Amino acid sequence: KKRNSHQPEFMQAVQEVAESVIPYIAKHKIYKDQKILERMVEPERLISFRVVWYDDTGKIHVNRGYRVQMNSAIGPYKGGLRFHPTVNASILKFLAFEQVFKNSLTTLPMGGGKGGSDFDPKGKSDNEIMRFCQSFMTELCRHIGPFTDIPAGDIGVGAREIGFMFGTYKKIKNEFTGVLTGKGLSWGGSKIRPESTGYGTVYFAQSMLKTKNDEVKGKTVVVSGSGNVAQFAAEKIIDLGGKVIALSDSGGCIHDSDGIDEKKLDFIMNLKNEERGRISEYTKKYPSGKYYKGKRPWHIKCDIAMPCATENELDERDAKNLLKNGCICVSEGANMPSTPGAMQAFRKAKILYAPGKASNAGGVSASGLEMTQNSLRYSWIREKVDDRLRGIMENIHDSCVKYGMEEDGYCNYVKGANIAGFVKVADAMLAQGVI
Ligand code: NDP
Repeated sequence: KKRNSHQPEFMQAVQEVAESVIPYIAKHKIYKDQKILERMVEPERLISFRVVWYDDTGKIHVNRGYRVQMNSAIGPYKGGLRFHPTVNASILKFLAFEQVFKNSLTTLPMGGGKGGSDFDPKGKSDNEIMRFCQSFMTELCRHIGPFTDIPAGDIGVGAREIGFMFGTYKKIKNEFTGVLTGKGLSWGGSKIRPESTGYGTVYFAQSMLKTKNDEVKGKTVVVSGSGNVAQFAAEKIIDLGGKVIALSDSGGCIHDSDGIDEKKLDFIMNLKNEERGRISEYTKKYPSGKYYKGKRPWHIKCDIAMPCATENELDERDAKNLLKNGCICVSEGANMPSTPGAMQAFRKAKILYAPGKASNAGGVSASGLEMTQNSLRYSWIREKVDDRLRGIMENIHDSCVKYGMEEDGYCNYVKGANIAGFVKVADAMLAQGVI
C-alpha cells in the first residue's frame, strides 16, 4: 500500500482483485506462503522514456512514453498502447494489472502489459501523428519483440497509429514480424480484430442473458463512447435485433429514441474514424437525436448498459439511476468503467454485471489469434476468427460461473473473473520458482 499510495487507479484495480482473491488464498496456503499476490502487484519492469517530435510549424514538443511489463508467467507481455493526455504510471499500471487477469482468462498464452504516452492526438495532423509515432517507436522498439512483448491499440491508438509504429519498427529492425497486433489486413492483420472487443462484449452479454433464458433481441441498449469498442458493440447489438439508443464522446452524449440503425451507425463511424468529428454533429444530420452536452448516457432508460469509453465513467449515482430505470444487464467494454460504488450497487441489486476484464477480453483474444496467424504466416477467414472469438467468450463466461457462483444462485462475475484469472497465473509463477 505504502509503495503505491500515490497511484489511485492502480490501487483501485488491486483492491478490487484483492477482495475476491484474498479469501481464496486463505484456503490455498501455498499462494500466501509464496507471496504470489505481493509479487503480482509489482511490475516485472516499468520503462519510461522521452518522446520528442516536431509539429507542422516546426515547434518541438516533449512527451513521456511508457511500457509497463507486468507479468510474463504464462506468455510474452501483451496489452495495448494508449495515447491520451491523462496517461500516467498509475493508469498504465492499473491497465497492465487488469490485463494479466484478462489474458489469463482468454486461455491463450499471453502475459500482461500496457503502455502509451501523455500525447494528445486530438487536433493533430496525420503528419504530426506520424512523427510522434516514429519517435515513440524509436525508443520502444528496443524493449519489445514478437517473443517478448507485443503491443496493440487502445484509446487514441487505432489502425493509423499501429501502421506508423509498425513501419518504424520494421525499418529499424529490418524484420517483418508480428510485433504489434491490430495491423492492416494486407500486412499481417487479422480479420475481425477491429470488431473483436465490441463484438466480444456483446457475446458476453448474450451468455449472461442466456442464464436467465433471455436474449439481446428486443432490448433497448445504451452505449457510452463512440470509438472502436463502442462502434462495434453497437453494430453487434443491432445485428442481434437490439435497439441502440445512445452513444457518447468526451464532449457529451446523444439520445435517439427512434434507435440508431445501421445507416445512422455508418454515419457515426465515418464521422469518428474519417472526419475525426464530434458526436454532437449527429443531431444536425438526424434531428430525431438529442444532444446532452457534458453528459454521459446513464440517465437514459434502458435494459442493457454498455460502458465502452474509459475508466470510472459510471459512478454510484449513475448505477442507481440505471437500476431505477429497470436496467437488467451491464457488460463493460471499457476497462474499469464502473467505480467501486457502482459495482457495489450492481452486486446488491443482483443484476447481470460483467467486469471489463472478462467481458472486453475479446479484443486481446483476437490479438492472440492474430499472433497465431502471423506465426503460421497464414490468414484465416472471417468466419473462423469470429467462431473462435465466440467460443473464447463462452469459455470466459463459464470460468466466471465456475468460480463466481454464490450459494443463492447469484453469479458474481467479478469474483469469478478475478479468481479464474489468478489461479492460472499463480500456478505458473509457483512452477517457475522465486524469480
Ligand atoms: P477509442 O479511442 O477508439 O475511443 C474512446 C472513446 O471514449 C471515444 O469516444 C472518446 O471520446 C471516449 N473517451 C475517451 N476518454 C474519455 C474520457 N476521459 N471521458 C469521456 N469519454 C472519453 O478507444 P477504444 O474504443 O479502443 O477504447 C475504449 C475503452 O475500451 C478503453 O477503456 C480501453 O482501454 C478499452 N478497451 C479497448 C480495447 C480495444 O481493442 N480497442 C480492448 C479492451 C478494452 P473522444 O473521441 O471525445 O475522445
